Amino acid sequence: MDTFASLRLVTLESLDLSPGYSALGERFVELRDPTSLSEPYLVAFNPDVAELIGLDPAEGERPEFLRLAAGNARFSSIQPYAAIYAGHQFGTFVSQLGDGRAITLGEVRVPDGDRFEWQVKGAGKTAFSRFADGRAVLRSTIREYLCSEAMAGLGIPTTRALAIAGSDEPVFREVPETSAVLTRIAPSHLRFGTFELFHYRGEFDAVKILADYAIERFFPDLAAIADDAERYASFLREVAERTARLMAQWQAVGFAHGVMNTDNMSILGLTLDYGPYGFLEAFDPGFICNHTDAGGRYAFGRQPTIGLWNCKALAAALSSLVAEADADAAMQAYRAAFQTSYLALLQAKFGLSQSRDRDLELFTACFGALQTGGVDHTIFFRALCGLERESTPYDDRVAAFFENRSEWYDWQRAYRTRLESEPCDDATRLAAMRAVNPKYVLRNYLAQRAIEAAQGRDYAELERLHDLLRHPFDEQPEREEYAAPPPDWARAISVSCSS
Ligand code: AMP
Ligand code: MG
Repeated sequence: MDTFASLRLVTLESLDLSPGYSALGERFVELRDPTSLSEPYLVAFNPDVAELIGLDPAEGERPEFLRLAAGNARFSSIQPYAAIYAGHQFGTFVSQLGDGRAITLGEVRVPDGDRFEWQVKGAGKTAFSRFADGRAVLRSTIREYLCSEAMAGLGIPTTRALAIAGSDEPVFREVPETSAVLTRIAPSHLRFGTFELFHYRGEFDAVKILADYAIERFFPDLAAIADDAERYASFLREVAERTARLMAQWQAVGFAHGVMNTDNMSILGLTLDYGPYGFLEAFDPGFICNHTDAGGRYAFGRQPTIGLWNCKALAAALSSLVAEADADAAMQAYRAAFQTSYLALLQAKFGLSQSRDRDLELFTACFGALQTGGVDHTIFFRALCGLERESTPYDDRVAAFFENRSEWYDWQRAYRTRLESEPCDDATRLAAMRAVNPKYVLRNYLAQRAIEAAQGRDYAELERLHDLLRHPFDEQPEREEYAAPPPDWARAISVSCSS
Protein backbone atom coordinates (compact mmCIF):
# COMPACT_ATOMS: atom_id res chain seq x y z
CA MET A 1 0.00 0.00 0.00
CA ASP A 2 1.16 3.50 -0.78
CA THR A 3 1.19 5.04 2.68
CA PHE A 4 1.66 8.48 1.18
CA ALA A 5 -1.64 8.32 -0.66
CA SER A 6 -3.53 8.97 2.55
CA LEU A 7 -1.35 12.02 3.19
CA ARG A 8 -2.17 13.56 -0.15
CA LEU A 9 -5.37 15.12 1.06
CA VAL A 10 -6.06 18.40 -0.61
CA THR A 11 -8.25 21.49 -0.43
CA LEU A 12 -11.40 21.96 -2.49
CA GLU A 13 -9.48 24.23 -4.84
CA SER A 14 -6.76 21.63 -5.38
CA LEU A 15 -9.03 18.73 -6.31
CA ASP A 16 -8.22 17.31 -9.73
CA LEU A 17 -11.55 17.88 -11.46
CA SER A 18 -12.90 17.15 -14.91
CA PRO A 19 -16.35 17.09 -16.53
CA GLY A 20 -16.37 13.27 -16.58
CA TYR A 21 -19.50 11.73 -18.08
CA SER A 22 -20.81 14.99 -19.53
CA ALA A 23 -17.87 15.02 -21.96
CA LEU A 24 -19.90 12.45 -23.94
CA GLY A 25 -22.07 15.35 -25.06
CA GLU A 26 -25.53 16.82 -24.73
CA ARG A 27 -27.24 13.72 -26.01
CA PHE A 28 -26.50 12.18 -22.64
CA VAL A 29 -26.92 15.09 -20.24
CA GLU A 30 -28.61 18.37 -19.68
CA LEU A 31 -26.06 21.00 -18.68
CA ARG A 32 -27.61 22.78 -15.76
CA ASP A 33 -26.65 24.42 -12.49
CA PRO A 34 -28.20 23.42 -9.19
CA THR A 35 -30.86 25.72 -7.71
CA SER A 36 -29.73 27.53 -4.57
CA LEU A 37 -31.05 26.47 -1.21
CA SER A 38 -31.82 29.35 1.15
CA GLU A 39 -29.72 29.77 4.30
CA PRO A 40 -28.24 26.27 4.31
CA TYR A 41 -26.60 24.64 7.30
CA LEU A 42 -24.45 21.54 7.52
CA VAL A 43 -26.35 18.56 8.91
CA ALA A 44 -23.72 15.87 8.39
CA PHE A 45 -20.21 15.49 7.06
CA ASN A 46 -18.42 12.22 6.48
CA PRO A 47 -14.61 12.31 6.83
CA ASP A 48 -14.31 8.71 5.52
CA VAL A 49 -15.70 9.68 2.15
CA ALA A 50 -13.75 12.95 2.09
CA GLU A 51 -10.58 10.87 2.41
CA LEU A 52 -11.79 8.41 -0.20
CA ILE A 53 -11.87 11.21 -2.76
CA GLY A 54 -8.63 12.76 -1.55
CA LEU A 55 -10.26 15.73 0.18
CA ASP A 56 -8.87 16.96 3.48
CA PRO A 57 -11.69 16.39 6.00
CA ALA A 58 -10.94 19.80 7.53
CA GLU A 59 -12.41 21.24 4.32
CA GLY A 60 -15.85 20.26 5.60
CA GLU A 61 -15.73 23.21 7.97
CA ARG A 62 -15.32 25.82 5.27
CA PRO A 63 -18.24 27.93 4.08
CA GLU A 64 -17.14 27.06 0.54
CA PHE A 65 -17.85 23.41 1.25
CA LEU A 66 -21.31 24.18 2.60
CA ARG A 67 -22.09 26.19 -0.54
CA LEU A 68 -21.16 23.21 -2.70
CA ALA A 69 -23.06 20.78 -0.49
CA ALA A 70 -26.20 22.92 -0.64
CA GLY A 71 -26.04 23.31 -4.40
CA ASN A 72 -25.34 27.03 -3.98
CA ALA A 73 -22.04 26.86 -5.82
CA ARG A 74 -20.27 24.82 -8.46
CA PHE A 75 -16.65 24.06 -9.17
CA SER A 76 -15.67 27.08 -11.22
CA SER A 77 -14.10 25.21 -14.10
CA ILE A 78 -16.80 22.58 -14.56
CA GLN A 79 -20.34 22.79 -15.94
CA PRO A 80 -22.74 20.72 -13.75
CA TYR A 81 -25.23 18.38 -15.42
CA ALA A 82 -28.19 16.06 -15.02
CA ALA A 83 -28.07 12.71 -16.83
CA ILE A 84 -30.88 11.32 -18.96
CA TYR A 85 -32.05 7.73 -18.62
CA ALA A 86 -35.15 5.56 -18.92
CA GLY A 87 -36.17 2.44 -17.04
CA HIS A 88 -38.57 -0.35 -16.28
CA GLN A 89 -40.58 0.79 -13.27
CA PHE A 90 -42.47 -2.04 -11.59
CA GLY A 91 -42.16 -4.00 -14.81
CA THR A 92 -43.41 -1.28 -17.17
CA PHE A 93 -41.08 0.55 -19.52
CA VAL A 94 -40.98 4.32 -19.01
CA SER A 95 -39.31 5.80 -22.06
CA GLN A 96 -37.81 8.80 -20.36
CA LEU A 97 -36.72 9.48 -16.81
CA GLY A 98 -33.42 11.05 -15.82
CA ASP A 99 -31.85 12.87 -12.90
CA GLY A 100 -34.92 14.80 -11.83
CA ARG A 101 -33.24 16.20 -8.75
CA ALA A 102 -29.64 15.00 -8.84
CA ILE A 103 -26.98 17.20 -10.41
CA THR A 104 -23.37 16.12 -10.89
CA LEU A 105 -20.88 18.89 -10.15
CA GLY A 106 -17.93 17.11 -11.73
CA GLU A 107 -15.58 14.18 -11.51
CA VAL A 108 -12.74 14.07 -9.00
CA ARG A 109 -9.60 12.17 -9.82
CA VAL A 110 -7.53 10.95 -6.89
CA PRO A 111 -3.76 10.41 -7.08
CA ASP A 112 -4.07 6.62 -7.42
CA GLY A 113 -6.15 7.14 -10.56
CA ASP A 114 -9.63 6.38 -9.19
CA ARG A 115 -12.37 8.77 -10.24
CA PHE A 116 -15.53 9.76 -8.41
CA GLU A 117 -18.60 11.66 -9.53
CA TRP A 118 -19.58 14.38 -7.06
CA GLN A 119 -23.33 14.59 -7.15
CA VAL A 120 -25.80 16.76 -5.23
CA LYS A 121 -29.21 15.11 -4.79
CA GLY A 122 -32.19 17.34 -4.06
CA ALA A 123 -30.50 20.29 -5.74
CA GLY A 124 -33.46 21.59 -7.73
CA LYS A 125 -35.29 21.00 -10.97
CA THR A 126 -33.77 19.70 -14.15
CA ALA A 127 -35.16 18.97 -17.60
CA PHE A 128 -36.09 15.53 -16.20
CA SER A 129 -38.06 16.59 -13.12
CA ARG A 130 -41.43 16.01 -14.84
CA PHE A 131 -44.04 17.33 -12.39
CA ALA A 132 -41.89 17.08 -9.28
CA ASP A 133 -40.02 19.80 -7.40
CA GLY A 134 -36.42 18.67 -7.73
CA ARG A 135 -36.03 18.66 -3.97
CA ALA A 136 -35.44 16.02 -1.30
CA VAL A 137 -36.68 16.10 2.27
CA LEU A 138 -34.35 15.92 5.27
CA ARG A 139 -35.81 12.54 6.28
CA SER A 140 -34.93 10.87 2.97
CA THR A 141 -31.43 12.35 2.74
CA ILE A 142 -30.68 11.06 6.25
CA ARG A 143 -32.00 7.63 5.30
CA GLU A 144 -29.77 7.52 2.23
CA TYR A 145 -26.76 8.93 4.09
CA LEU A 146 -27.01 6.40 6.90
CA CYS A 147 -27.77 3.41 4.73
CA SER A 148 -25.05 3.97 2.18
CA GLU A 149 -22.55 4.20 5.02
CA ALA A 150 -24.08 1.20 6.79
CA MET A 151 -23.69 -0.84 3.59
CA ALA A 152 -20.09 0.32 3.21
CA GLY A 153 -19.49 -0.78 6.81
CA LEU A 154 -20.94 -4.19 5.95
CA GLY A 155 -18.59 -4.46 2.97
CA ILE A 156 -21.41 -4.27 0.41
CA PRO A 157 -20.79 -2.28 -2.80
CA THR A 158 -22.64 1.03 -2.66
CA THR A 159 -22.65 4.68 -3.60
CA ARG A 160 -21.29 6.76 -0.73
CA ALA A 161 -22.47 9.81 1.18
CA LEU A 162 -20.18 12.78 1.79
CA ALA A 163 -22.50 15.32 3.38
CA ILE A 164 -25.98 16.62 4.01
CA ALA A 165 -26.90 20.29 3.83
CA GLY A 166 -30.23 21.29 5.33
CA SER A 167 -32.43 24.33 5.04
CA ASP A 168 -35.69 25.55 6.51
CA GLU A 169 -36.98 26.00 2.96
CA PRO A 170 -40.28 24.09 2.92
CA VAL A 171 -41.12 21.25 0.56
CA PHE A 172 -44.47 19.59 0.35
CA ARG A 173 -44.97 15.84 0.52
CA GLU A 174 -47.90 14.38 2.48
CA VAL A 175 -47.20 17.20 4.94
CA PRO A 176 -44.88 20.21 4.74
CA GLU A 177 -41.28 19.26 5.48
CA THR A 178 -37.90 20.92 5.19
CA SER A 179 -35.51 20.34 2.31
CA ALA A 180 -32.02 18.99 2.29
CA VAL A 181 -29.33 18.09 -0.22
CA LEU A 182 -27.25 14.93 -0.09
CA THR A 183 -23.76 14.89 -1.60
CA ARG A 184 -23.39 11.47 -3.14
CA ILE A 185 -20.16 9.98 -4.44
CA ALA A 186 -19.63 7.04 -6.81
CA PRO A 187 -17.21 6.14 -9.59
CA SER A 188 -20.27 6.31 -11.85
CA HIS A 189 -24.00 6.64 -11.45
CA LEU A 190 -24.67 4.95 -14.82
CA ARG A 191 -27.80 2.84 -14.70
CA PHE A 192 -29.22 -0.07 -16.70
CA GLY A 193 -31.89 2.44 -17.71
CA THR A 194 -29.35 4.70 -19.41
CA PHE A 195 -28.72 1.96 -21.98
CA GLU A 196 -32.43 1.26 -22.28
CA LEU A 197 -33.23 4.87 -23.16
CA PHE A 198 -31.05 4.88 -26.27
CA HIS A 199 -31.86 1.33 -27.29
CA TYR A 200 -35.60 1.92 -27.36
CA ARG A 201 -35.10 5.17 -29.23
CA GLY A 202 -33.24 3.15 -31.85
CA GLU A 203 -30.06 5.16 -31.23
CA PHE A 204 -27.72 2.20 -31.29
CA ASP A 205 -24.64 4.33 -31.87
CA ALA A 206 -25.32 5.96 -28.47
CA VAL A 207 -25.64 2.53 -26.84
CA LYS A 208 -22.20 1.74 -28.24
CA ILE A 209 -20.77 5.04 -26.98
CA LEU A 210 -22.09 4.25 -23.49
CA ALA A 211 -20.76 0.71 -23.50
CA ASP A 212 -17.35 1.89 -24.72
CA TYR A 213 -17.30 4.57 -22.02
CA ALA A 214 -18.17 2.09 -19.27
CA ILE A 215 -15.73 -0.58 -20.45
CA GLU A 216 -12.82 1.78 -20.87
CA ARG A 217 -13.26 3.40 -17.48
CA PHE A 218 -14.54 0.73 -15.20
CA PHE A 219 -13.69 -2.62 -16.76
CA PRO A 220 -10.06 -2.21 -17.87
CA ASP A 221 -9.55 -5.98 -18.16
CA LEU A 222 -12.35 -6.15 -20.73
CA ALA A 223 -11.03 -3.16 -22.65
CA ALA A 224 -8.08 -5.33 -23.63
CA ILE A 225 -10.31 -7.79 -25.52
CA ALA A 226 -9.73 -7.02 -29.20
CA ASP A 227 -12.78 -8.75 -30.65
CA ASP A 228 -15.84 -6.44 -30.48
CA ALA A 229 -18.47 -9.15 -30.08
CA GLU A 230 -16.48 -10.82 -27.34
CA ARG A 231 -15.74 -7.56 -25.54
CA TYR A 232 -19.40 -6.45 -25.38
CA ALA A 233 -20.54 -9.95 -24.43
CA SER A 234 -17.99 -10.00 -21.61
CA PHE A 235 -19.21 -6.59 -20.47
CA LEU A 236 -22.80 -7.82 -20.17
CA ARG A 237 -21.62 -10.95 -18.43
CA GLU A 238 -19.49 -9.00 -15.97
CA VAL A 239 -22.35 -6.63 -15.11
CA ALA A 240 -24.68 -9.61 -14.66
CA GLU A 241 -22.19 -11.34 -12.38
CA ARG A 242 -21.62 -8.23 -10.29
CA THR A 243 -25.38 -7.80 -9.95
CA ALA A 244 -25.72 -11.43 -8.90
CA ARG A 245 -23.01 -11.07 -6.27
CA LEU A 246 -24.68 -7.91 -4.99
CA MET A 247 -28.00 -9.75 -4.69
CA ALA A 248 -26.26 -12.53 -2.75
CA GLN A 249 -24.86 -9.96 -0.34
CA TRP A 250 -28.24 -8.28 0.11
CA GLN A 251 -29.89 -11.63 0.83
CA ALA A 252 -27.20 -12.73 3.25
CA VAL A 253 -27.43 -9.57 5.35
CA GLY A 254 -31.22 -9.25 5.06
CA PHE A 255 -31.33 -6.02 3.07
CA ALA A 256 -34.42 -5.19 1.00
CA HIS A 257 -33.94 -2.40 -1.53
CA GLY A 258 -37.60 -1.71 -2.13
CA VAL A 259 -37.50 -0.17 -5.64
CA MET A 260 -35.45 -2.38 -7.93
CA ASN A 261 -36.52 -0.59 -11.10
CA THR A 262 -33.93 -0.76 -13.86
CA ASP A 263 -33.28 2.97 -13.46
CA ASN A 264 -32.07 2.18 -9.94
CA MET A 265 -29.69 -0.58 -11.05
CA SER A 266 -26.03 0.41 -11.18
CA ILE A 267 -23.91 -0.69 -14.12
CA LEU A 268 -21.07 -1.12 -11.59
CA GLY A 269 -23.06 -3.43 -9.32
CA LEU A 270 -23.40 -0.84 -6.55
CA THR A 271 -26.39 -0.47 -4.26
CA LEU A 272 -27.95 2.68 -5.71
CA ASP A 273 -30.86 5.02 -4.90
CA TYR A 274 -31.91 4.36 -1.34
CA GLY A 275 -35.63 4.97 -1.00
CA PRO A 276 -37.97 2.81 1.07
CA TYR A 277 -35.33 0.17 1.88
CA GLY A 278 -35.41 -1.95 5.01
CA PHE A 279 -33.41 -4.55 6.89
CA LEU A 280 -35.22 -7.76 7.74
CA GLU A 281 -36.32 -8.01 11.32
CA ALA A 282 -38.65 -11.00 11.74
CA PHE A 283 -37.37 -13.33 9.02
CA ASP A 284 -39.82 -13.40 6.13
CA PRO A 285 -39.08 -13.84 2.41
CA GLY A 286 -42.35 -12.02 1.72
CA PHE A 287 -41.15 -8.90 3.55
CA ILE A 288 -42.16 -5.78 1.59
CA CYS A 289 -40.40 -2.66 2.78
CA ASN A 290 -42.03 -0.31 0.28
CA HIS A 291 -45.48 0.83 1.25
CA THR A 292 -46.19 1.58 -2.45
CA ASP A 293 -45.35 -1.98 -3.59
CA ALA A 294 -48.57 -3.66 -2.50
CA GLY A 295 -48.09 -6.51 -4.97
CA GLY A 296 -44.70 -7.36 -3.50
CA ARG A 297 -42.83 -7.30 -6.79
CA TYR A 298 -39.76 -6.23 -4.82
CA ALA A 299 -40.36 -8.35 -1.71
CA PHE A 300 -37.16 -9.46 0.02
CA GLY A 301 -37.23 -13.04 -1.23
CA ARG A 302 -37.79 -11.98 -4.84
CA GLN A 303 -34.68 -9.84 -5.16
CA PRO A 304 -32.44 -12.47 -6.78
CA THR A 305 -35.15 -13.17 -9.39
CA ILE A 306 -35.70 -9.47 -10.01
CA GLY A 307 -31.95 -8.95 -10.30
CA LEU A 308 -31.99 -11.48 -13.15
CA TRP A 309 -35.09 -9.88 -14.69
CA ASN A 310 -33.25 -6.56 -14.68
CA CYS A 311 -30.16 -8.11 -16.26
CA LYS A 312 -32.41 -9.46 -19.03
CA ALA A 313 -33.69 -5.91 -19.53
CA LEU A 314 -30.08 -4.77 -19.82
CA ALA A 315 -29.35 -7.59 -22.28
CA ALA A 316 -32.29 -6.41 -24.41
CA ALA A 317 -30.89 -2.88 -24.31
CA LEU A 318 -27.50 -4.20 -25.47
CA SER A 319 -28.94 -6.44 -28.19
CA SER A 320 -27.41 -4.27 -30.92
CA LEU A 321 -23.98 -5.21 -29.52
CA VAL A 322 -24.44 -8.64 -27.92
CA ALA A 323 -25.72 -11.70 -29.78
CA GLU A 324 -28.63 -13.61 -28.28
CA ALA A 325 -26.57 -16.70 -27.48
CA ASP A 326 -24.01 -14.56 -25.63
CA ALA A 327 -26.79 -12.80 -23.74
CA ASP A 328 -28.21 -16.18 -22.72
CA ALA A 329 -24.76 -17.22 -21.53
CA ALA A 330 -24.52 -14.02 -19.48
CA MET A 331 -27.85 -14.81 -17.82
CA GLN A 332 -26.58 -18.31 -17.08
CA ALA A 333 -23.52 -16.66 -15.54
CA TYR A 334 -25.84 -14.58 -13.34
CA ARG A 335 -27.48 -17.75 -12.01
CA ALA A 336 -24.14 -19.44 -11.38
CA ALA A 337 -22.62 -16.36 -9.73
CA PHE A 338 -25.62 -15.91 -7.48
CA GLN A 339 -25.62 -19.52 -6.39
CA THR A 340 -21.89 -19.65 -5.74
CA SER A 341 -21.76 -16.35 -3.85
CA TYR A 342 -24.91 -16.92 -1.85
CA LEU A 343 -23.87 -20.39 -0.80
CA ALA A 344 -20.41 -19.15 0.18
CA LEU A 345 -21.94 -16.31 2.22
CA LEU A 346 -24.31 -18.68 4.01
CA GLN A 347 -21.50 -21.13 4.63
CA ALA A 348 -19.63 -18.33 6.38
CA LYS A 349 -22.69 -17.09 8.28
CA PHE A 350 -23.21 -20.57 9.70
CA GLY A 351 -19.53 -20.89 10.51
CA LEU A 352 -18.77 -23.74 8.14
CA SER A 353 -15.31 -23.54 6.66
CA GLN A 354 -15.85 -26.33 4.16
CA SER A 355 -18.83 -27.17 2.04
CA ARG A 356 -20.71 -30.46 2.29
CA ASP A 357 -23.42 -31.92 0.10
CA ARG A 358 -26.33 -31.39 2.42
CA ASP A 359 -25.45 -27.93 3.74
CA LEU A 360 -28.07 -26.19 1.66
CA GLU A 361 -30.73 -28.42 3.19
CA LEU A 362 -29.48 -27.48 6.64
CA PHE A 363 -29.63 -23.76 5.82
CA THR A 364 -33.09 -24.04 4.30
CA ALA A 365 -34.40 -25.82 7.39
CA CYS A 366 -33.00 -23.07 9.58
CA PHE A 367 -34.67 -20.33 7.51
CA GLY A 368 -37.90 -22.29 7.70
CA ALA A 369 -37.71 -22.31 11.50
CA LEU A 370 -36.85 -18.60 11.57
CA GLN A 371 -39.87 -17.86 9.42
CA THR A 372 -42.30 -19.94 11.47
CA GLY A 373 -41.03 -18.36 14.65
CA GLY A 374 -40.84 -14.81 13.23
CA VAL A 375 -37.31 -14.66 14.60
CA ASP A 376 -35.20 -11.53 14.12
CA HIS A 377 -32.68 -12.25 11.37
CA THR A 378 -29.77 -10.17 12.65
CA ILE A 379 -30.21 -11.11 16.30
CA PHE A 380 -30.47 -14.80 15.47
CA PHE A 381 -27.27 -14.99 13.45
CA ARG A 382 -25.34 -12.95 15.98
CA ALA A 383 -26.57 -15.25 18.75
CA LEU A 384 -25.52 -18.25 16.68
CA CYS A 385 -21.99 -16.82 16.93
CA GLY A 386 -22.13 -17.75 20.61
CA LEU A 387 -23.19 -21.36 20.25
CA GLU A 388 -20.38 -23.59 21.39
CA ARG A 389 -20.17 -27.14 20.12
CA GLU A 390 -19.93 -28.61 23.60
CA SER A 391 -22.58 -26.52 25.38
CA THR A 392 -25.68 -28.29 26.71
CA PRO A 393 -28.08 -28.58 23.82
CA TYR A 394 -31.15 -27.44 25.73
CA ASP A 395 -29.61 -24.52 27.50
CA ASP A 396 -28.77 -21.98 24.87
CA ARG A 397 -29.78 -18.34 24.49
CA VAL A 398 -30.97 -18.92 20.96
CA ALA A 399 -33.79 -21.23 22.02
CA ALA A 400 -35.56 -18.31 23.69
CA PHE A 401 -36.28 -16.78 20.27
CA PHE A 402 -38.42 -19.72 19.19
CA GLU A 403 -41.97 -20.31 20.28
CA ASN A 404 -41.79 -23.80 18.89
CA ARG A 405 -38.64 -24.92 20.67
CA SER A 406 -38.78 -28.46 19.35
CA GLU A 407 -38.22 -27.19 15.80
CA TRP A 408 -35.16 -25.31 17.01
CA TYR A 409 -33.83 -28.27 18.99
CA ASP A 410 -34.21 -30.56 15.98
CA TRP A 411 -32.34 -28.14 13.81
CA GLN A 412 -29.72 -27.52 16.42
CA ARG A 413 -29.01 -31.24 16.71
CA ALA A 414 -28.43 -31.47 12.97
CA TYR A 415 -26.24 -28.38 13.12
CA ARG A 416 -24.14 -29.73 15.97
CA THR A 417 -23.64 -32.98 14.10
CA ARG A 418 -22.53 -31.00 11.08
CA LEU A 419 -20.11 -28.99 13.26
CA GLU A 420 -18.39 -32.20 14.29
CA SER A 421 -16.79 -32.45 10.87
CA GLU A 422 -15.47 -28.87 11.09
CA PRO A 423 -11.71 -28.72 11.51
CA CYS A 424 -11.44 -25.52 13.57
CA ASP A 425 -11.98 -25.06 17.27
CA ASP A 426 -14.91 -23.13 18.70
CA ALA A 427 -12.99 -19.93 19.34
CA THR A 428 -11.71 -19.70 15.77
CA ARG A 429 -15.06 -20.62 14.27
CA LEU A 430 -17.05 -18.20 16.41
CA ALA A 431 -14.65 -15.33 15.77
CA ALA A 432 -14.94 -15.94 12.02
CA MET A 433 -18.73 -15.95 12.34
CA ARG A 434 -18.73 -12.65 14.22
CA ALA A 435 -16.76 -11.12 11.36
CA VAL A 436 -19.59 -11.85 8.90
CA ASN A 437 -22.76 -11.69 11.03
CA PRO A 438 -23.29 -8.03 11.94
CA LYS A 439 -24.32 -7.11 15.44
CA TYR A 440 -25.75 -3.80 14.23
CA VAL A 441 -27.86 -3.03 11.18
CA LEU A 442 -29.78 0.10 10.28
CA ARG A 443 -33.19 -0.76 11.66
CA ASN A 444 -35.93 1.65 10.59
CA TYR A 445 -36.60 2.70 14.15
CA LEU A 446 -32.95 3.65 14.68
CA ALA A 447 -33.01 5.79 11.54
CA GLN A 448 -36.32 7.26 12.66
CA ARG A 449 -34.91 8.35 16.02
CA ALA A 450 -31.97 10.07 14.31
CA ILE A 451 -34.34 11.75 11.84
CA GLU A 452 -36.66 13.08 14.53
CA ALA A 453 -33.75 14.54 16.49
CA ALA A 454 -32.32 16.08 13.31
CA GLN A 455 -35.68 17.64 12.48
CA GLY A 456 -35.20 19.52 15.77
CA ARG A 457 -31.66 20.47 14.64
CA ASP A 458 -29.99 18.01 16.99
CA TYR A 459 -27.53 15.92 15.00
CA ALA A 460 -25.86 14.02 17.86
CA GLU A 461 -27.94 10.88 17.31
CA LEU A 462 -27.28 10.94 13.56
CA GLU A 463 -23.57 11.10 14.23
CA ARG A 464 -23.70 8.39 16.87
CA LEU A 465 -25.64 6.05 14.64
CA HIS A 466 -23.35 6.69 11.69
CA ASP A 467 -20.34 5.97 13.86
CA LEU A 468 -21.90 2.76 15.17
CA LEU A 469 -22.65 1.50 11.66
CA ARG A 470 -19.08 2.05 10.50
CA HIS A 471 -18.17 -1.01 12.57
CA PRO A 472 -21.23 -3.24 12.46
CA PHE A 473 -19.32 -6.43 13.27
CA ASP A 474 -17.63 -5.12 16.42
CA GLU A 475 -19.02 -5.53 19.90
CA GLN A 476 -19.71 -1.99 21.09
CA PRO A 477 -20.70 -2.60 24.74
CA GLU A 478 -21.60 1.03 25.43
CA ARG A 479 -24.10 0.89 22.55
CA GLU A 480 -25.65 -2.48 23.30
CA GLU A 481 -29.20 -1.09 23.08
CA TYR A 482 -28.75 -0.45 19.34
CA ALA A 483 -28.70 -4.21 18.82
CA ALA A 484 -32.10 -4.66 20.46
CA PRO A 485 -35.19 -5.79 18.55
CA PRO A 486 -37.52 -3.00 17.41
CA PRO A 487 -39.86 -1.50 20.00
CA ASP A 488 -43.61 -1.77 19.45
CA TRP A 489 -43.95 1.77 18.09
CA ALA A 490 -41.61 0.85 15.23
CA ARG A 491 -44.35 -1.25 13.62
CA ALA A 492 -46.16 1.93 12.69
CA ILE A 493 -43.26 3.25 10.60
CA SER A 494 -44.23 3.14 6.96
CA VAL A 495 -41.82 3.98 4.20
CA SER A 496 -42.91 4.88 0.69
CA CYS A 497 -41.34 6.33 -2.44
CA SER A 498 -42.32 9.91 -1.51
CA SER A 499 -38.97 11.33 -0.60
P1 AMP B 1 -36.72 7.14 -7.57
O1 AMP B 1 -37.92 6.27 -7.41
O2 AMP B 1 -36.40 7.99 -6.37
O3 AMP B 1 -35.53 6.38 -8.03
O4 AMP B 1 -37.09 8.22 -8.70
C1 AMP B 1 -37.64 7.92 -9.95
C2 AMP B 1 -37.55 9.11 -10.87
O5 AMP B 1 -38.26 10.23 -10.33
C3 AMP B 1 -36.13 9.60 -11.12
O6 AMP B 1 -36.04 10.01 -12.46
C4 AMP B 1 -36.00 10.76 -10.17
O7 AMP B 1 -35.05 11.69 -10.59
C5 AMP B 1 -37.39 11.34 -10.19
N1 AMP B 1 -37.72 12.05 -8.95
C6 AMP B 1 -37.99 11.51 -7.73
N2 AMP B 1 -38.26 12.47 -6.83
C7 AMP B 1 -38.17 13.65 -7.49
C8 AMP B 1 -38.33 15.03 -7.11
N3 AMP B 1 -38.67 15.38 -5.87
N4 AMP B 1 -38.15 15.96 -8.06
C9 AMP B 1 -37.82 15.63 -9.32
N5 AMP B 1 -37.66 14.37 -9.74
C10 AMP B 1 -37.83 13.38 -8.84
MG1 MG C 1 -33.94 6.41 -8.87
